[in-house]
Amino acid sequence: MRWSNPPASVAPASHWRSRGRLVPAVGAILAFTAVLLVSGAPEEKHISIFSTAANYSLPVLERNGDEYVGLLELFEPLGAVNAKTAGPHWKFRYYDVESEFTAGKTRARIRGSDFDLPSNFVLENRRGLVPLSCLGTLLPRILGGPVTFNQNSRRLFIGNVAVHFTAQVSKTTPPKLVINFTAPVNPMIATEPGRLRMVFTHEAVVAPGSSVLTFDSTIIPSASFQENNGAAELVVAGTLPLIATFSHDGRSITVEPPAQAATPTQPPQQTAAGPAPASPTSVTTTPAATRRYFAVIDPSHGGDERGASLTSQLAEKDITLAFARRLRQELEASGLATLLLRDGDSTLSLDQRASLTNSAHPAIYICVHAASQGNGVRFYTALVPAGTENRGPFLGWDAAQSSYQSASRAAAMSLAKELPGKQIPARSLIAPLRPLNSITSAALALEVAPASDDVSQLNSPAYQQLIAGAIAAGLADLRGQLEAER
Ligand SMILES: [Zn+2]
Repeated sequence: MRWSNPPASVAPASHWRSRGRLVPAVGAILAFTAVLLVSGAPEEKHISIFSTAANYSLPVLERNGDEYVGLLELFEPLGAVNAKTAGPHWKFRYYDVESEFTAGKTRARIRGSDFDLPSNFVLENRRGLVPLSCLGTLLPRILGGPVTFNQNSRRLFIGNVAVHFTAQVSKTTPPKLVINFTAPVNPMIATEPGRLRMVFTHEAVVAPGSSVLTFDSTIIPSASFQENNGAAELVVAGTLPLIATFSHDGRSITVEPPAQAATPTQPPQQTAAGPAPASPTSVTTTPAATRRYFAVIDPSHGGDERGASLTSQLAEKDITLAFARRLRQELEASGLATLLLRDGDSTLSLDQRASLTNSAHPAIYICVHAASQGNGVRFYTALVPAGTENRGPFLGWDAAQSSYQSASRAAAMSLAKELPGKQIPARSLIAPLRPLNSITSAALALEVAPASDDVSQLNSPAYQQLIAGAIAAGLADLRGQLEAER
């Protein structure tokens, strides 16, 4: 890769793309709150449908003082449907099941038998609307199988699709709340003072035996489950800040105080590649929350997302972790408390990385990438998209970085000056990189490339140590400035 490339095209796509369809974590909740607070507009009503074919949400409409939903829209994701309008009559077909409804009437025919709606059928522009309250009886007639409809929360379960969970707090110090689900989940996660909220919109997560779970822990005393407007919410109460991490392909969520606060700095690994096994037993008695992090280091990629294949043997995710651990060790040696977002081979989405970072309130966030092309180290800071900077008192998730851009750029430029003294080329660039845009502190990405044409240098402890040492020294020099900006 050449230095003359325009910044936006420098970053290899594999580094920055989001994995699959991920729901924005805190962002969606912040944006949603902003709408409510700024305009005072009522919340839009939704119904969520969970089935083996698809999980989806539809808008709920108010007609004649009742709640309605479009019947064709409801059935479309479930199979072959069509509808025909003839005057006031609306003929609806789902596979070979025929139904007929009449505008302004409650009486309908389904499979040749009468069926009475609780209020009138509504026909609007050839679109048939049925009252929400009949879904629990109407759908089994058409589908020929059972459904469970929770009308208060507007959650409709077709067939045996419920996702159950168990929750247990460990006796370790600090404690961990481990929540195991019967199917993968990907909730929106928001951290707030005293609690961590998980909102399940696309998952059929159902209530545990009791809606309030209590635990034998002063740090994580309880969790509560509620359902509303098509979504389920699990709120974990905590007397310390809590973060959530995913494992087992999304079947487990662990909620705990940021664990690295209580673990001693690990010695440098003998070989750079290959993540060290997690060491959950090596906890000390340092209370997690008393530590305020100077830096959050984010080893990019991880788990089933390998990042770039640097060589046939070397995955980027392993180099970023090895390098991040060295950088943490160097920073901690200078007395700078440092949180690693992953200290093992785990999968984290970009939104999770941003929300974990923002809940830790560091002075600086550094995400680490590695590349086989180019020479030395490239520092990137965010290019916040134009027109998204400010929406009243609430910042958009994609523009959260905008107030910290100048601090981020100053830090990147200053760090880029440290390295040439060590015979390592360095350069500072601006690019629209996620999750930098969503970080509410000084934030930069660094991409480590070999100093020569020898890619295996990336895996060399000496090379990693040289760069980590120089960057840590640069950050220690910037400490006063960064602490003042946060
Ligand atoms: Zn990468």
